[in-house]
Amino acid sequence: MTLTVGNGKRKAAFTAAVAAALIFLPHVMPNDYWLRIYLVTGIWVMLALGLNVVAGFAGLFDLSYVAFFGIGGYTFALLSSDQFGIHLPFLVVLPVAAFLTMGVGIALGSTSLRLKGDYLAIVTLAFAQIFKLLLLNLDTPVNITGGVNGIFGFDPINIFGLKIESPVGYAYLIWFFACLVTIGAYRLKMSRLGRGWESLREDELASEAVGVNTTRMKLMAFAIGAFVAGMAGVLFASLQDSVFPNNFDFPQLVIVYCMVILGGLGNIPGVIVGAILLSVLPEFLREYGAYRMMFYGLVLIVLMALRPQGILGEIGFLTRKKKRPDKDESGVLKASTDLYYAEGGEAPARKAPKVRYARTSRVLLEVEGLTQDFGGIRALSGLSFTLHEREILSIIGPNGAGKTTLFNLVSGIYRPTEGRILFEGRDITGLRPHAIVALGVARTFQNLRLFNKMSVLDNARVGRFCRTHAGPVSVLLHLPRHRREEMETQKKADEILGLFGGRLTGYRYHQQAMYLSYANRRRLEIARVLMTEPRLLLLDEPSAGMNPQETKEITAFIKHLRDAYGYTILLIEHKLNLVRRISDRVIALDYGVKIAEGRYREVANNEKVIEAYLGRKGHGKRAGIKI
Ligand code: ATP
Repeated sequence: MTLTVGNGKRKAAFTAAVAAALIFLPHVMPNDYWLRIYLVTGIWVMLALGLNVVAGFAGLFDLSYVAFFGIGGYTFALLSSDQFGIHLPFLVVLPVAAFLTMGVGIALGSTSLRLKGDYLAIVTLAFAQIFKLLLLNLDTPVNITGGVNGIFGFDPINIFGLKIESPVGYAYLIWFFACLVTIGAYRLKMSRLGRGWESLREDELASEAVGVNTTRMKLMAFAIGAFVAGMAGVLFASLQDSVFPNNFDFPQLVIVYCMVILGGLGNIPGVIVGAILLSVLPEFLREYGAYRMMFYGLVLIVLMALRPQGILGEIGFLTRKKKRPDKDESGVLKASTDLYYAEGGEAPARKAPKVRYARTSRVLLEVEGLTQDFGGIRALSGLSFTLHEREILSIIGPNGAGKTTLFNLVSGIYRPTEGRILFEGRDITGLRPHAIVALGVARTFQNLRLFNKMSVLDNARVGRFCRTHAGPVSVLLHLPRHRREEMETQKKADEILGLFGGRLTGYRYHQQAMYLSYANRRRLEIARVLMTEPRLLLLDEPSAGMNPQETKEITAFIKHLRDAYGYTILLIEHKLNLVRRISDRVIALDYGVKIAEGRYREVANNEKVIEAYLGRKGHGKRAGIKI
């Protein structure tokens, strides 16, 4: 769910209501017991929001999270107690603990984040177990952690002479940090970083292919999660005035995961509500003893079965839903779903370009002896060709000829078995996809790899990732660089989406990509690559799945991209009519080998090409071309 906070007034009213609640709540708690639950809930909220960055935003199944919570707690215990006679002030220990935890997170992340899914889970779980064993055993020969007895008796928190000792004081302190973490989480989510994570969670390969350095983004999520957990650990240790290995164990990890999953991965208000519910709910059931946990588990299972997207799911309670032209007041589609999937919007009205670009003699891309083997299959064999600046070069060939493999090699998804690829004279062979996008080569996919749950606008904006640079500090503090880049990104998205007439604008901006018509999804994928400011566009069957009218339109559009904007285009296409209309040159492949190269007419009349398409003696007809 993309949550857009409503207009200024609503936002101010909501902020004021939350602030008033946070001021009064500690005073209206029925007793100390409930006040304590209120305090612990604040810590759970922080923990859940931190894990939400790792598991919700970036989609990493990290089981070491609870260890980071413990590192924060024990750092405070060691630096603010009699254990070693170190008595650093709270305002020093808090950042030291948070940054130290983050450092450990980065160290663990940089060694394990290349792993995925189960493997990442196993490594991080092992780390959490090693951490717990260390806590239990580092009491001899030197007593560091206090072993099973833990450490207790810490210095009271003292902030510029203000001692925090009463539960009410803790309530303000803990919920102040919980609010900071909430604001931080929102700022991250609404930024280029949030979009980068969301894209990576949806489709890691497509995310790389639009310029997101996925390894770095995962590491960043890991580091931010560890930072928040470390901070929560300090507050928890101080509140409890003691730390024990059991405070940072698997059950706590399960609870915080439940909060995030219950709230809906990535959904900030949902996760907060999830954390509050799972902190408070078990208390109502306390008198039922052992049945309490069973009931708790049952509620979770039922909720997950009914609302896998989390309790709040699509409900943005801070947002006023914009009325959509294709829905009635209650949000039901007005007519048949055809209306929903129909084209809508106007086709682009184009003026003749002021400058008409054409192919130059400058070589932009050089492919030399490219060979790609997949086990026993040779998908490409010694392919060489050059592509000139502002040229439209089409690659044709029957199914399995090696066309997509060529794109996968040029865009860095595969590393070739042999050969090299030069872009503007620079060897880009084996570079990672995001690095190739940053150099100016961007691609679309034959089978459409949009980020389906992201809005049309965000799909476009994420394409700008490689051209923007605001880091977490800039985003969290809303520094000028972040604000400027966000404005530029929005402007560019308006401009690029506007190229398609009314097809991708208006109310469609905020529509999830999965609800677009097939043709519009193809258009959006092209818009997304244009956002990366490429000099070379690799379009893999841009008209696949389009009807004749849409095909005509996209053909004109691709030509317009070169003629009016000067893009260089390498195109894979099965529809020869399209190829004929727009190509300067054509290369035909068959079984990974170049069988013809030249102008369309020469290639189309080449005997080997005709044979490849229409079948050779004894081979039967090979599918794959629509003339
Ligand atoms: P189409 O028009 O059907 O998309 P294509 O010309 O794009 O075909 P490729 O997808 O490049 O063909 O495939 C070329 C050959 O390489 C095929 O035999 C295919 O099965 C094989 N191939 C492609 N990718 C892989 C892979 N990752 N692993 C194994 N074999 C592969």
